[in-house]
Amino acid sequence: MKTYNYSDLNKQDIQTLVQRNIDPANEIRTLVEDVIGNVKQHGDRALYDYAHQFDKVLLKKLYLDKAELEEIAATVSTEQKAALQIAYNNIYKFHQSQLKAEDRVETMPGVTCWRELRPIEKVGLYIPGGTAVLPSTFLMLGIPARIAGCKEIVVCSPPQKNGKVNAFIAYVALMLNIDRVYLAGGSQAVAAMAYGTESITKVDKIFGPGNQFVTKAKTIIQSTTTTAIDMPAGPSEVLVIADDTANPAFVAADLLAQAEHGIDSQAILVCTSESIAQQTLAELEKQLQVLPRAEIAKQTIDNSYIVITDNLDEAMNFSNQYAPEHLILATEKWQQITGQIVNAGSVFLGNLTPESAGDYASGTNHTLPTSSYARAYSGVSVDSFVKKITFQHLSEEGIKNIGPAVETLADLEGLHAHRNAVSVRM
Ligand code: NAD
Repeated sequence: MKTYNYSDLNKQDIQTLVQRNIDPANEIRTLVEDVIGNVKQHGDRALYDYAHQFDKVLLKKLYLDKAELEEIAATVSTEQKAALQIAYNNIYKFHQSQLKAEDRVETMPGVTCWRELRPIEKVGLYIPGGTAVLPSTFLMLGIPARIAGCKEIVVCSPPQKNGKVNAFIAYVALMLNIDRVYLAGGSQAVAAMAYGTESITKVDKIFGPGNQFVTKAKTIIQSTTTTAIDMPAGPSEVLVIADDTANPAFVAADLLAQAEHGIDSQAILVCTSESIAQQTLAELEKQLQVLPRAEIAKQTIDNSYIVITDNLDEAMNFSNQYAPEHLILATEKWQQITGQIVNAGSVFLGNLTPESAGDYASGTNHTLPTSSYARAYSGVSVDSFVKKITFQHLSEEGIKNIGPAVETLADLEGLHAHRNAVSVRM
């Protein structure tokens, strides 16, 4: 990992360091636009072809039904079911607390305004399944969709080499009462849910993380179709802030947990001394040797970097400019600095709070904005699956009270029909 001293970095250096992979030659965009165009034109046929081309599988059918899911899920062990159930319960509990009715507000006598939630009717969930299969993502998306009350939930996940999904995806589908999973991955799955095909319903909003192809497709369809997206949730990233109260073995473990996602992930360490940096690097070497996905993790670590600062305030300053998807405060002094966090997707506090807890089971959502989008986007929550519709009611007293002001405002904008809509009622 390359090491930088914060005090040596100028504005431009920091700008360069915090920049993520931006597809400078538009290669990914060009490929993805081509895929989207094909799915739009050829529907299911294109999905069969791309499953062959990208996932190396010849599909006979584009989906698995409930009976097939039950058969696949049969191999999930009792211990695995119990762990999935704990995750399910905690995610459910945390997300259900987000559903709150809002107050009705009388803005002036007789004029009442309020908002009510309505679920988005048709939602599409993308469950990644390229280099690793992520049933945890299925829980993170399916649970808030169910709590919100979405009527139709379309689920797409890449087919595995045997033309099916793995047992855990099948089991989670059954936990969520979803009885069909479409075997489509990558940008073709996003296009199918945005345009609809013979088999797949066009949805109102697409959710879920994915690799660069998935994320690019989501950002393209957001501006070219009437389908919305949750957020750009691309290759995963973590920034760990560590001081001399951190445990280098824990810090290294957290960096590697991120690094094993994929070679386009980022694992950044910002620490307050050279000595913590050295101890963490030694731990990384040691822990890498026993990781099954060491090859992927090593490449990510090599592409990542360390920034050494004079104190925690400087570290936080850098972190806010980076706007990480995951931020870990590996310090006993975390309470002193949490108030300074401006940009982050999800935050893990203290030495005993690994990101993995939130990735799987503590209750918070792991579908989070990457690539510095944490500056403006929040992670997925029940809010992402609902619309908040405003309502208002004017009584006789209300129209009398507000009417003259509206007439004057309509006059000053020269909109006489607007004025008249009030005047005829007074
Ligand atoms: P994926 O399901 O996102 O992508 C697999 C699909 O990509 C394949 O089915 C294929 O159709 C397509 N593909 C692969 N190579 C291609 C090529 N050369 N051209 C066109 N399409 C191609 O699975 P993945 O690759 O394992 O990626 C999962 C990603 O999700 C990781 O980058 C991980 O970091 C990220 N992730 C992000 C979050 C978040 O909240 N931001 C959460 C979990 C995972």
